[in-house]
Order: sequence, then structure tokens, then C-alpha cells
Amino acid sequence: MAGLSKLFARARRSLVGGVNSPVRAFKSVGGTPLFVRSGAGARIRGADGRSYVDFCLSWGPLMFGHARREIVAAARAAMARGSTFGAATEGEVVLAEKIKAALPSIELLRMTSSGTEAGMSAARAARAFTKRDLIVKFAGCYHGHMDSLLVAAGSGATTLGIPDSAGVPRAVAATTVVVPFNDLHAVEDAFKKHKGRIAALFVEPIPANMGLVFPADGFLEGLRRITRREKTLLVFDEVITGFRVAYGGAQTLFRIKPDLTVLGKIVGGGLPLAAYGGRKDVMSMIAPEGPAYQAGTLSGNPVAVAAGTAMLDLLKRENPYPRMEKMARRYCAGLRGAAAEAGVPLRVHSFGSMFTPFFLDGAAPTDYASALRADKKAYGRFFHGMLKGGVYLPPAQWEAAFVSAAHADRDIDFALAAARRALKAV
Ligand SMILES: *Cc1c(COP(=O)(O)O)cnc(C)c1O
Repeated sequence: MAGLSKLFARARRSLVGGVNSPVRAFKSVGGTPLFVRSGAGARIRGADGRSYVDFCLSWGPLMFGHARREIVAAARAAMARGSTFGAATEGEVVLAEKIKAALPSIELLRMTSSGTEAGMSAARAARAFTKRDLIVKFAGCYHGHMDSLLVAAGSGATTLGIPDSAGVPRAVAATTVVVPFNDLHAVEDAFKKHKGRIAALFVEPIPANMGLVFPADGFLEGLRRITRREKTLLVFDEVITGFRVAYGGAQTLFRIKPDLTVLGKIVGGGLPLAAYGGRKDVMSMIAPEGPAYQAGTLSGNPVAVAAGTAMLDLLKRENPYPRMEKMARRYCAGLRGAAAEAGVPLRVHSFGSMFTPFFLDGAAPTDYASALRADKKAYGRFFHGMLKGGVYLPPAQWEAAFVSAAHADRDIDFALAAARRALKAV
């Protein structure tokens, strides 16, 4: 571990906090962050030379684990043909067609390099189309770090104890209305109070950034009903759920047609690529068709497009969803059993291949306020116990963990053995 401490100290001399994205710094769980040297399948190797079963999986993009052969080959071949032209390429059209075929609510789309950009641009499209300024979001839902959506933004911010970021002008934050998740009455109240002024309602259909929380029966349908009535655009942020909970995302599972959808993570095959899209009349507001400007030098770059296309093709061909769900269920059931044995209060939520163990007593979380009851110190002890046992989890309580199609029964058994030891020390 001396190696990691030294590397972290060196990193902090040139990178803010030693990292390029805050949660990586282990602030929430304490200790020295892991530096990763390489990954293959379900495992990563740290700069400490140790091998870990990976349940963080870069926070969601890696449906087939690390360095899946076909994805590497596609990206390598694209790179060799020239990595970026700042001009249109056929590959972008092919990927766009695949995204449209997967999510029929998307008639037109635009690619960006990050989920943040995609969410920010979806908000701009919605504001341009409705000629309204306000955006409704749910406490604990994360939509990237754009100013007006960085209010009560869940995971990263929660972890650092900054519910609202510094540097966001008060006037911008004031264009955001925050309501509790799963509370249709609060949504109705917000629309009553700001009648005719709300451009868009943003929601993670299955929130994964306050830990994994489920939408109550009828909640998403209620949002669709209210937004349609109020002529507000319903925006599904499927950066995590898109291509994960099903090939067609949460909107396919719940049979709800949002006006706009934000995609990221999986759609780039592990490279920086995201997208936003939806109704043709709304998306036509974006330049060059319309007056709302949005651009990107590396948007739709051939390497990320090739990786994303290879990812979607593999998902289509192998349909790994049932197998991944089975792995996640088995791990979560084992975790519940081990916690009961160790006398540790634990609520494990899972949906498909995503899961969160909440260290809390009593009722399972249904929104941000109830998720915040989880004991982050207990999670930190569990996290470090698992790390010692050779398992890498998301380094924060309020995050979703993932299994990939590369995880096998032996990885789950290995992780459960580590969990039984770790829970005894929580
Ligand atoms: C990760 C995430 C984003 C932001 O994507 P980046 O690529 O990190 O900018 C937006 N929304 C959700 C739901 C996410 O999980």
C-alpha cells in the first residue's frame, strides 16, 4: 500500500485533490484511493500490484467488463483510420440508427462527449422549444454537473457534503425547482406554483445516484400525465439505465415515452460519448436546424463511435441481461444472508445488474431523505474490508454498484467470501 500512498501524494502535487473526478479520491470512505493499472474482464489490477473483482466498473459503462476483445478491436481499427476529423463520418449515422432502433421515443439525436454535456443540451433544447426557463428535478437525482441541474444532485455532491455547489450563480440555481422523488403531490404543487413556466422535468427513471432507489408504482406514469397536461417536456436521464436495465432502457421496461432522453456511459463502449435525443420538433431547435446552439470538437469522434457501436452490437448478439441479473441477485441474496449472520442492519436494493447495499435499519429508502439515513461510516468500513479482501466497490455509500457480463460464478463466490469477512468487522 506504500506504493499507493506515494502515488497519491505525487498526484496531489499536480492534480486537484489528486484526481480528475471527485469521488475517486475516497473522501467518503477514507484512506488512500486505488490507482488502477489495468483491467481484464471482471477484474482490475491496482498500482499496488493486487488484483480486484470490480463492482464499480467505471460507474456503469462496462457491460462486458474490461477490455472486451471486440470493443478493443473496433476502437483500435478506428484509431488507425484517423481518430478525429471534425467532419461527419458514416459511423456516426450507423450508431445513431442503432440508438433510434433501440429507443423508439428518439426521432432525432445529437452526440456529445459526456453525459453532463448531453443533459445540459437537453435542458437548452427544452427551454428553446417551450420558451420557458424553469426546470423541475428530484432531490438526489444526478444529471451531470451543469449549473442549473447541480442542485440537490445526489452521490458525488452528497459524498463531499456539498448539497449545492459553490460557483453556481444564485440566479441560475433559482431556475431549478427541486422536489422529492416518488412524491406526485409535491410535483403537482410545483406545477401549480410555477404555472406555465416549467420547460422540462428531469428524472432518472430508476435513480442510481442516491444509491439505487425504485420508482413507486404509477410514479413515472404520473410524471408523464402531469407533464403532458402542463406542456412541459419529460426528460428521462437514462445515462445509467439506457442499455443496462434493458437494451431499450427503462422507458421500454416501463412503457413510457419521454419527450427527450439523455444517454451516456454504455453508449460509448467505455470511451467518452453520450447523446441526447427525442421528439423531432424539439430536437429541431438545435443548430444547425434551429436557433439553440450546441457543438463539440470531438462530438461523435470515430473512436468512441466505433467502441459504442461494438458495445451495442455485442448487447444485441449476446443478450447478457438475464445472466447479469442472475449474478446480481445471487450476490445480493448472499449479502443479505451474511449481514443477518453478522447482525449488521443492511438493506440491499437491486434491479437487473445494478445494486446498492444501504447500511441502515428499518424501512428501505424511497427517496433522497430516506437514503441519507444510511450510515456512511459503516459503508466505509465495509468498503475497506472488501478492498482488503480483493473486491473493488464504488467508494461511496450513495452509488450504484454493477455486475458485468464478464462476472462469473467464481467472482460472485469470491466476493461473497470477502463480504462475510468484511461484514463481521463493520
Ligand atoms: C454519470 C451520469 C451523468 C453524467 O455523465 P458524465 O459522462 O459523467 O458527465 C448524468 N446522468 C446520470 C444519471 C449519470 O449517472
